[in-house]
Parts: sequence; structure tokens; C-alpha cells
Amino acid sequence: MNNQDKIIEIFKKMPGIGPRQAKRMVYYLLSAPKDTLKKLAELVGTIQDDILTCQMCFRYFSKSQIKNGDDSICSICRNPNRKKDTMMIVARDADYESIEKSGVFDGVYFVLGGTIPFSSKNAEETVRIKELLNILNIRLKEGLSEIIFALNATPEGEHTTNIVELRLKEKIQKPIRFSKLGRGFSTGTEVEYSDKETLKNAISSRS
Ligand SMILES: [Zn+2]
Repeated sequence: MNNQDKIIEIFKKMPGIGPRQAKRMVYYLLSAPKDTLKKLAELVGTIQDDILTCQMCFRYFSKSQIKNGDDSICSICRNPNRKKDTMMIVARDADYESIEKSGVFDGVYFVLGGTIPFSSKNAEETVRIKELLNILNIRLKEGLSEIIFALNATPEGEHTTNIVELRLKEKIQKPIRFSKLGRGFSTGTEVEYSDKETLKNAISSRS
């Protein structure tokens, strides 16, 4: 396998990238200025150095966002203006980013880290169920009263919601509201690519 093919294989593993797109990206790299390639290689090589995972919501965040003190909790979770009574469960970082950009949600998040494939025998191995159950008590003490599932309206997204909801219900003793995105969030809709209006409607009509 030559270097081009090796890079294509890596790109193909990225979400939403098929063999054709991977090839197109490699052609771009072949035509790009050498300086750009060097800069890219350097940035890719160090991308994880500056990034931490929040120990409450498990989203990635930059170390530079933390001025002093504890760097295990992200700026959203430590923001006193965020309502701790509502936690939104999303599949990936790109999903909560899309919701943050729309500015229609002021609670806290939990990033599952993916969805559970139908073929998966062990859900814990594919998404952060254990981690979610671990932080649950802290969130409940903070006054958590509603959990909103904001996963893609796809069969795998719904399958994931069902499994995670079941695990949560087994563990939570208090009466808690479980809801899902509502109106405008029809079959096939993806959180990451939804516009502000769609997200706003979907959140306000959650049921
Ligand atoms: Zn956080």
C-alpha cells in the first residue's frame, strides 16, 4: 500500500467520509502547498495535547478555556448560569455544538460518544453508559429533573435512546421526566445538520 492509499484508509474511518470523499481529500492534499501540509501534519500530531474530556458531560474542551483550578470540568458544566435541572443527551460533540450554536438550550449536556449499532451485544462497549450512570448521582443532587434525548431521528439513534433510557430508569428512583425532541424532528433528521429553527421547535415541543 502506498502513502496515498494509507491516507485514504485513515480518512475512510472518519464519520460521514466514504471512499470517494477520502480520495478527493487526498487529491486536495497532493495539490496543496507544502507549507500547508507541514502545518497540517503538525496540528494533527498535537491535536490531542491541548484537549481534555470533561468528567461530567464528556465533551472535549480546550485546556486554554480553563484559566485556573480544576481542569476536569468544562466551561459549560461549571457555568452557574446553566440550568442543572435539565440534561440533554447527545451522541457526539458535533451534535451539542450545533445546539450550542443555535442558542436554544441553557441546560447541561452528556455526550454518549456515538450510537449503539443494532449488532452490538454490549452497549457499554460502544457508548458511555457506565460513565453516564456514574455522574447521575451528582446531577440528581444538583437538582436534575429532566433528561432530554437529542439523538438523530434514525433507527440507530432511536435504538440507542431506548437502551440508554432503560438503563437510566433502572437506576433512577426519583420521578424524573424523560423526553425526546419533538416537532420538526422527523425521520432521518440529524442533530448536527439541523438549523436553529428546527432545533428550537424540536426542543420546545419535546415530549
Ligand atoms: Zn462538561
